[in-house]
Amino acid sequence: NVSLVLFTADLRLHDHPPLRAALDGARQVVPLFVRDRAVDRAGFAVPNRLAFLADCLRDLDAGLRARGGRLVLRSGDLVEQVCRVAGEAEADEVHLAADGSAHARHREERLRTALEAEGVRLHVHDAVTTAVGPGTVTPASSDHFAVFTPYFGHWSRWRLREPLDAPRTVRVPEGIGSEDLPSRKGLSGLSPALATGGEREGRERVTAWLRSGIGAYEEGHDDLAGDATSRLSPHLHFGTLSPVELVHRARRAGGPGAEAFVRQLAWRDFHRQVLAARPEAASTDYRTKRDRWRTERTAREDVEAWREGRTGYPVVDAAMRQLRHEGWMHNRGRLLTASFLTKTLYVDWRVGARHFLDLLVDGDVANNQLNWQWMAGTGTDSRPNRVLNPVTQAKRYDPDGAYVRRWVPELEHVAASAVHEPWKLPEEERVALGYPEPIVPLPEGLARFRRARERT
Ligand code: FAD
Repeated sequence: NVSLVLFTADLRLHDHPPLRAALDGARQVVPLFVRDRAVDRAGFAVPNRLAFLADCLRDLDAGLRARGGRLVLRSGDLVEQVCRVAGEAEADEVHLAADGSAHARHREERLRTALEAEGVRLHVHDAVTTAVGPGTVTPASSDHFAVFTPYFGHWSRWRLREPLDAPRTVRVPEGIGSEDLPSRKGLSGLSPALATGGEREGRERVTAWLRSGIGAYEEGHDDLAGDATSRLSPHLHFGTLSPVELVHRARRAGGPGAEAFVRQLAWRDFHRQVLAARPEAASTDYRTKRDRWRTERTAREDVEAWREGRTGYPVVDAAMRQLRHEGWMHNRGRLLTASFLTKTLYVDWRVGARHFLDLLVDGDVANNQLNWQWMAGTGTDSRPNRVLNPVTQAKRYDPDGAYVRRWVPELEHVAASAVHEPWKLPEEERVALGYPEPIVPLPEGLARFRRARERT
């Protein structure tokens, strides 16, 4: 008999419950990935993520080939393609990872109905793309946690399943056609310093991180120039790493760094369970309603300056330029550029979230939209009116200005005392730098935010 494993956001062979179940139940297995047109239309198909995906699919195929198998790639409507391949292979079961997003759940329902009509069973496996899946822990009075701290208490006590080894052999039936695997070549508009995808790369990163990074995470994670976070986010997004396995390994490493790191992994699951319960939060205010935002049209020049990293606030510009160059941004940078757009420029958070999703290699609807809402004060933050002052933040998290100098060459030779406030330099020096003046004075931005807050 034959089983089919449908890979989605779980592009790996280690700790893969659907693959393990398929191998346990069948002599032969079809490992299938479908380039789902609907996902592409929903905004996934941006160059940076397509490039990382191409790396991941090639690496998955290589891993399967090393075990006697191969990856089957199709594209089109996912339900149609799975049914077609299941028919060609005469599969009697399909295995798939659970995914809480509205699109994935709707797709899963359609798939179940279509497969059942052909006499094929669909098995959906939990804790593949999350450590603790949406709905696994819930408060007594609601379908999801709206506040992180109590969620984290329950999340931490949840007994995770044990990680699974990668299979030794995978036998794929003959004669199942596959499209050619995509590659980075031919993609234009990529960030020049984009990370490399694939399970092999992801696992190497984790090993290096646990050996020599995690110990300094607690004190170093906010240091912009120190770059002391794991950079595992794209691997978690594409599932080249298992969150369950990562939590186990980090806990084994132990210490305050590991504790702080595991807490961040819980944030990822937290946002997933919010979005699973409230799918509309991807585009509408989750808790506090704010309106009369300035929009792309009404604040066109400000938005352009923000996107291009020429607001005149060095740390904001550095972070925005890092995003463009790497397709990734440090978390502290994400926080303060989001605060600047929404609270200082008072521009709609959706404008910023869209720009991030156009570039981020880890761009993820749950994490991105809900972090944007958190910072915009419409989401789960218990202090929705907090404003991050870009100068104070810069002095705290980039005290020597090394991060700013790395990304804003105009300020390369400015001393630490002025690098975060170049407008304080004598006029002659300032003009010679060729760096923009602030697009808005901070007090003016703050006053605009206060007025808007009173109205809403
Ligand atoms: P580490 O600090 O090493 O953390 C380890 C892992 O924990 C991360 O890889 C990530 O999976 C998870 N994590 C860390 N912080 C958060 C958080 N605040 N919320 C949820 N999960 C977290 N993360 C994304 O993965 N995709 C996004 O699209 C995304 N958009 C964001 C937008 C804004 C405005 C903000 C403020 C944050 C966003 N984040 C997003 C969260 C966070 O910034 C990134 O996960 C983190 O910077 C990735 O770097 P790292 O892997 O080195 O993180």
